[in-house]
Amino acid sequence: MKAVDIISNKKHNKKHTKEELEFWINGIVNGTIPDYQITPWLMAVCFNGLDFEETAILTDLMAKSGKMLDLSFLGNNVMDKHSTGGVGDKISLILIPLMASLGGKMAKLSGRALGHTGGTIDKLEAIPNFNTGLSIDEFLSQVKEIGCAIASQTSDFTYADKKLYELRDVTATVDCIPLITSSIVSKKIASGANIIVLDVKYGDGAFIKTKEDAEKLSHMMVNVGKQLNRSIIAVISSMEEPLGYNIGNSLEVIESIEVLKGNGEQNLVELTMEIGSILLTKAKLAQDKEEAIEMMSNAINSGKALDKFRELIKCQGGNPQCIEDYSMFPISKYIVPIKAEKEGFVNKIKTYEIAVGCKNIGGGREKKTDSIDLSAGIVLKKKVGDYVNIGDTLFEIYSNDENKIKENIELFNSVFTIEEMPPKPIPLIYKVIE
Ligand code: URA
Repeated sequence: MKAVDIISNKKHNKKHTKEELEFWINGIVNGTIPDYQITPWLMAVCFNGLDFEETAILTDLMAKSGKMLDLSFLGNNVMDKHSTGGVGDKISLILIPLMASLGGKMAKLSGRALGHTGGTIDKLEAIPNFNTGLSIDEFLSQVKEIGCAIASQTSDFTYADKKLYELRDVTATVDCIPLITSSIVSKKIASGANIIVLDVKYGDGAFIKTKEDAEKLSHMMVNVGKQLNRSIIAVISSMEEPLGYNIGNSLEVIESIEVLKGNGEQNLVELTMEIGSILLTKAKLAQDKEEAIEMMSNAINSGKALDKFRELIKCQGGNPQCIEDYSMFPISKYIVPIKAEKEGFVNKIKTYEIAVGCKNIGGGREKKTDSIDLSAGIVLKKKVGDYVNIGDTLFEIYSNDENKIKENIELFNSVFTIEEMPPKPIPLIYKVIE
C-alpha cells in the first residue's frame, strides 16, 4: 500500500477500507508518512467526507494510537466533559470541583487553546505554580484521593490526534465533522471515563457555525461512541455570544471562582447546571434533573464546591489563597474601556472577532511556540439584549501591551451592534442528543 494511493482514493471520493486507515494511522504514528502527504488527505476529507463506518474505524485507531487509561478501579461514576471549543467557555473549571464535591470522579485531561478558542490548560496556568504536567500515576492517585485531577493531555495519548490537529490548525481543516468526531471521541475513549458529555457549540464563536451542522456532529459523535461501546451525550449550545462575562486565561479562572461563590452569570450557570445534571443522573448520584440541580445549588451555596476547588489547587501545587485574593493572578498593566457611541439594545456581539482581538492583544498564540500573556483578555459589561446609553462601558480590554491594544482598537470598536429594537432571544441550549 502507498500513501499516495490513499490520498488519491479520498480525492476521488472513494470509501477507505479498514486496512487503508490502519496503514494511514500507523504511518502517522511511525513518522513514515510526511506532513506534505497528510495535509492533502485532510483537505480531501474536508471536501469528500468520511462516512459513519470510516469515521468509527478512524476514531478507534486514533484512540489506540497512544496510551489508554483504564479507570475502572475508580468505580462506575468516572465523568468527563469536553467542549468542541468556545469563547469564554470556562465550564470545565467549574464542573470539575463541583462534580467532585458531589461524589463524582472527574479525571480530566485537557488541551491548550486551539484556533480562536481557549484551552483549559492555559487557563489553569494563570493560577501561580499550578502544575498541569502530572504524571499518569500522580493523576490517577489524586483522582482516587480527592475525586478530581486535571492534567495536560500529552502526546503519550492519542498521538495521531496530536499530529493531525497540529496540521489541521494551520491548514484550515478544523471545521470538518468526521475530523472533529475522530479527534474528540478518540481522546475521550483514551481518557477512560464511562460517562461522557460533549458540549457541542454552534454559532459565530464556534468552529461549527449552524445548528444543523452541530446536530449532525452530535449524532456522529454519539453514534461513534455507541459503536465503540462508550456512552456519550451531546448538549448543543449557542456560541452566538461569549459565555459569561470574561474572556482570557486569568480572567476566566476568576469568573469560574465567582460562579463557585454563587455569583455566576446566568448563561454560565444554566449550562453548568445542564451538563452537571446529566453527569450526576447518569452516574446515579441524583435521581433526576431536579434533584441534581438542588444538589449543585447546595454545593455552591454551602461553599463545598469552592472547598473542592481549593483542595484541587493545593494538590496540584498552586496557592489556594488566590480564591480570596485575585491580585495573585497575573494582572494587566492596561485596562481600556470601550464605550457605547449610541443608545439602544445590544443586538449582537461578534464573538469570533472578539476572540481574535483577545488573541491579538496577547491572550493567544500565533505559533505553537509563542508564549501568552495570561492576564490579557476582555471583560464584558453588557451582553446581548441589554439596553445601553451613550457613554456606557460595553467592555474592557486587558493587556500588558499598549501597542497591541492600539493596533486592535478598530476591531474592538466594531464588535458590538446596537439597534433601536431588542434582538430576538436565542435559547442557550438547543438540544440534548443521546
Ligand atoms: N476540539 C478537539 O479536541 N478537536 C477538534 O477537532 C475540535 C475541537
